[in-house]
Amino acid sequence: MSKEPTKPALPKTLKFMGEQWKIYQIPETTIPLSLLGRIDFQERRIDVAEQLPSEEASTLLHEIFHLLDNVYVLGMEEQDILRLERGLWRIFQENPEMLAYLLKAACEYERS
Ligand SMILES: [Zn+2]
Repeated sequence: MSKEPTKPALPKTLKFMGEQWKIYQIPETTIPLSLLGRIDFQERRIDVAEQLPSEEASTLLHEIFHLLDNVYVLGMEEQDILRLERGLWRIFQENPEMLAYLLKAACEYERS
């Protein structure tokens, strides 16, 4: 019997520089089609539309780039953020061992 792989659950929070951000998965129909995600800096809230797992993850990454753009006043355009999102996501997908390494290194660092 084959078992459907379970969809990875979107994290509910994001911590960044001591601040907690809420992450919400929202039905795709409740936001404009062109918008698969959005970030509210006042509310510290990130919305990610329901999609395929890889698309949700990529959208989350996209909103994180918006957060970094805002915090570090990078002045990125939407196109820059889109390219970073797609580029980094592609690197992750083509290099799962490297992603595992980064995760391990980040967690080890956290503990030390
Ligand atoms: Zn964007």
